[in-house]
Amino acid sequence: MRDLPIILDMRRRTVVVVGSGVVAARRAELAARAGALVTVFAPALGDEFLELRDRPDVRHAPRDPEAEDFAGCSLCFVASEDERLIERTRALASAAGALVNVADRPKLCDFIMPSIVDRSPLVIAISTGGASPILGRMLKARLESLIPSAYGRLAELMSGFRGRVATAIPTQTMRRRFWETVLEGPIAETALAGNTTAAEAHLAAEIERWADEQPSPRGEVYLVGAGPGDPDLVTFRAFRLMQKADVVLYDRLADPRIMTLVRREAERVYVGKRPDNHELPQDEISALLVRLAREGKRVLRLKGGDPFLFGRGGEEIETLAEHGIPFQVCPGVTAAIGASAYAGIPLTHRDHAQACVFVTGHGRDGKIVLDWASLIKPRQTVAVYMGLRNLEPLTEAFIAAGAPPDLPAAVVDNATRPNQRVVAATLATLASAARAAGLEGPSIVIIGSVVTLREKLDWYAPREGGPEPGG
Ligand code: SAH
Repeated sequence: MRDLPIILDMRRRTVVVVGSGVVAARRAELAARAGALVTVFAPALGDEFLELRDRPDVRHAPRDPEAEDFAGCSLCFVASEDERLIERTRALASAAGALVNVADRPKLCDFIMPSIVDRSPLVIAISTGGASPILGRMLKARLESLIPSAYGRLAELMSGFRGRVATAIPTQTMRRRFWETVLEGPIAETALAGNTTAAEAHLAAEIERWADEQPSPRGEVYLVGAGPGDPDLVTFRAFRLMQKADVVLYDRLADPRIMTLVRREAERVYVGKRPDNHELPQDEISALLVRLAREGKRVLRLKGGDPFLFGRGGEEIETLAEHGIPFQVCPGVTAAIGASAYAGIPLTHRDHAQACVFVTGHGRDGKIVLDWASLIKPRQTVAVYMGLRNLEPLTEAFIAAGAPPDLPAAVVDNATRPNQRVVAATLATLASAARAAGLEGPSIVIIGSVVTLREKLDWYAPREGGPEPGG
């Protein structure tokens, strides 16, 4: 993140605006609307200021600002093309400790003016860090059409009851549940429909009910597939659950960019491989899920790909079922499907393969036990999970079991991620080619003549290193 977004309380703070045109007028108006005391320095004010002229909180000084004008000043907006005036104002304002924004000159700015969606008291500020104001404005337009104007009313209603809720409902977890119930239910609908009095009455009654019953929070577990890495491949349901969770259990297969989608306040517990290369044993993860759910928490177990495909998700929730803890499973795009799409290798194709099998190439002591007869068949693609480490014995075993050495095969490393790499070769040459490329995994191995389709269908060309999370 390049800049830090914050929302400033500007009530009774001093703001200096330098300039007489439309931008200066807009800045002055915005600052005054937020409760600031504004002084506009300009020889004469344009028509854009007409509506501001009679406001007691906007003063006009028909001259350039001097050092003493910045005493106690928090923010200074400059909307002028006079380079000398810009420089001088910046120097004076900075010396007085004020933050400066010069319109259309990002390099001269201490802070950026975001695009604003105003549903006061609800406000959304959008910044592209100066990269593309147009993109910011487009997003603003979309949000404007997406968020009913009545949301401001809803926020106001909630704000009016915050104190009462804090007294009546003692724990933070319960208060959050309370507000969620309100927001997802008829009270919010009533408020959004404009029926404020009825909404207030219902809300008051609902607070009483919660205070009387003190319902203990019911914990539950969400077993969620996060897909292979690209955050765009997270399902809507997974995203919704990520926003709801109190605790998230994750491991190294969860891409950092996906972790940024998780509710910020949610507790995060890493249950993957430790530096000593030992994973938390399955039964300990299951026990942890049970314990956290019993504490009334909404626990999200985030899995790479799909939770039920080589993810041991089934084992993890068996214990939950035994303890009668409610859970739900949310599917994800599994690595082989992600790899297939982003490497341009269809797993089936009329001219190449009518079947595809998913297997694990994970072997104990380098020995891979697979049912070769069912794997090595014409017109069938094999996708191997966890095969990179054993790639040499794996490809050798395929050939020994009768697969043609020149059968096309590929490794898709870090599929769907900015650092995705694909090595396409044949069964005989794949292991050495992958070694030469220095692939580190996670990788999917795809074996079958469909691999040749990549020559035509390869489309994903990420920039190595890729964009920064959230950038
Ligand atoms: N449940 C997961 C698989 C977990 S097993 C799923 O459905 O995808 C872990 C294996 O998945 C890794 O060894 C690797 O073979 C594969 N894998 C996971 N993420 C991957 C990725 N981004 N690119 C390639 N392979 C991946």
